[in-house]
Amino acid sequence: MRYTQLLMPTLREEPAEAEVVSHKLMLRAGMIRKLAAGIYTFLPLGVRVMQKVERIIREEMNKAGALEVLMPCILPAELWKESGRWDQYGRELLRIKDRHERDYCFGPTHEEVITDLARREIRSYRQLPLNLYQIQTKFRDEVRPRFGVMRAREFIMKDAYSFDADEEGAERSYWRMYEAYTRIFQRCGLKFRAVEADTGLIGGSFSHEFMVLADTGEDVIVSCSQCDYAANLERAEVGKVVEEVDERMKDLQKVRTPERKSVEEVFEFLGVPPQRLVKTLIFKTEKGVIAALVRGDHEINEAKLRRHMGVAQLQMAADEVIADVTHAPKGFAGPVGLEVKLVADYAVEGMKNFVTGANEPDAHLINVNLGRDFQVDEFADIRLAKDGDPCPRCPGRLQVSKGIEVGHIFKLGTKYSKAMGATYLDPKGREKPLVMGCYGIGVGRTVAAAIEQNHDEDGIIFPMSIAPFHVLILPVNNKDVRIMKVAEDLYLVLQQRGVEVLLDDRDERAGVKFKDADLIGIPLRLTVGEKNVGVGKVEIRIRRSGEVMLASLGEAPEVVMEMISAELRDD
Ligand code: ATP
Ligand code: MG
Repeated sequence: MRYTQLLMPTLREEPAEAEVVSHKLMLRAGMIRKLAAGIYTFLPLGVRVMQKVERIIREEMNKAGALEVLMPCILPAELWKESGRWDQYGRELLRIKDRHERDYCFGPTHEEVITDLARREIRSYRQLPLNLYQIQTKFRDEVRPRFGVMRAREFIMKDAYSFDADEEGAERSYWRMYEAYTRIFQRCGLKFRAVEADTGLIGGSFSHEFMVLADTGEDVIVSCSQCDYAANLERAEVGKVVEEVDERMKDLQKVRTPERKSVEEVFEFLGVPPQRLVKTLIFKTEKGVIAALVRGDHEINEAKLRRHMGVAQLQMAADEVIADVTHAPKGFAGPVGLEVKLVADYAVEGMKNFVTGANEPDAHLINVNLGRDFQVDEFADIRLAKDGDPCPRCPGRLQVSKGIEVGHIFKLGTKYSKAMGATYLDPKGREKPLVMGCYGIGVGRTVAAAIEQNHDEDGIIFPMSIAPFHVLILPVNNKDVRIMKVAEDLYLVLQQRGVEVLLDDRDERAGVKFKDADLIGIPLRLTVGEKNVGVGKVEIRIRRSGEVMLASLGEAPEVVMEMISAELRDD
């Protein structure tokens, strides 16, 4: 491809609207342009990178035995009413009407459509397992579209859906996708972790999010520094270590703490460290009001508490409910004398002589002790993991980092097949619900995440596997006939050998060309300059390391091809 024939409007200035580096660089490199909030056009350079990622996805999905289909974007409301999600999905679902006033939505995900297809086309166990995928445009009316294509409203997703006869089959399909995803993100050159994600009421460890490690990520990942345990913050377990405090029980006392409600206010006022306080949090669930106890320097993890309690609904109780059960305003709740179910975090188990609310206004209790002053109904792991916490799997320590969710795999079970009557006949002729899984990858988000991890102050540094071109040929002076002849010859030879090459044939100053070259981040640059051409040589520069070497004009194509295949070898 010739630069002069490509629409690649690079920008010198930092675009003001961009908050994260990938968004800035995608705009500056002329990969994308914004049409409306969260809605983007991909320009030729952007399309080439998207297609590279899509190709890797297709190859790995096909290798894993999945079949490509293409479903519509505009989906009839009836299907969504059958699954119940027409009412549940909320405002992210863009609802539209046709000329007959019939309801449709723009698909944010395709479980309903695929389940409808499955119930029509799958009859017998002989057709199973089946895994169908598509690479297609989704729309989600995100509350806060931002970071360019990373959190867009319209975006391209690869979504796959597996159908199996039973749980074991569904688990095999799940792990096959887990492995395919691992290969996809490895091939895209990403540093990532597959983290356990919350499965809500489905249970089990059958949901993983593939997280690209980046400080600008919106998700929090907890991972062990020694073993491969990794989970998202909602799910992350904390290793159980009960530290018995070696102290004699002291006499329980009530102290006045006027207006001191928060942990900080209480520990400052009483002069005790937060580790000696126990917070009592009141929650409402469909099974009634409960109290959760966590150490003063810990935070409650509502998702873990919800799972431990086996409830669907769990919210912080309203002030009136708190006043009703504790006989005190919010901020003075304590376990002593409280007549609701008490669940305490493991870290509370070994504590002695601690501080709690007194269940009366402006008062706290000191020297409170478990067993003597109150009984806990259950101990459980219900707090948020934090840096340095013990790993739940090994003697290692947990660390908390930020990540970008690029992929998500989920065992759905029979949620949709039961709601929509998608069944098959087993070998004995009995009708059974299909057991499903769903698997998504954000294509644009993967590209943005790759840039987030691969750039420097001058621009993008594309991994070879997803680079828009492998090689950029940069003649430093278009007026010099000899230089242009060499550049054109190299361009021809490389193209003939199947190398994806871009020739910067613009009549621009060398400085401008060099700046653009660094910005668009093509992995290899061949610089054709007067001095080197004079001695029959050309300069090869590696974008990532800045390393420069000289090759003779005759050898340069071979050298370049060897470098490209060395980087793509893992594919
Ligand atoms: P998030 O929590 O980031 O909103 P999600 O849990 O809604 O993601 P899924 O429904 O699992 O995401 O969708 C599958 C994949 O689609 C995600 O892993 C992500 O890569 C991509 N994706 C989801 N929402 C967006 C978006 N608004 N813009 C770009 N990609 C997205
Ligand atoms: Mg979302």
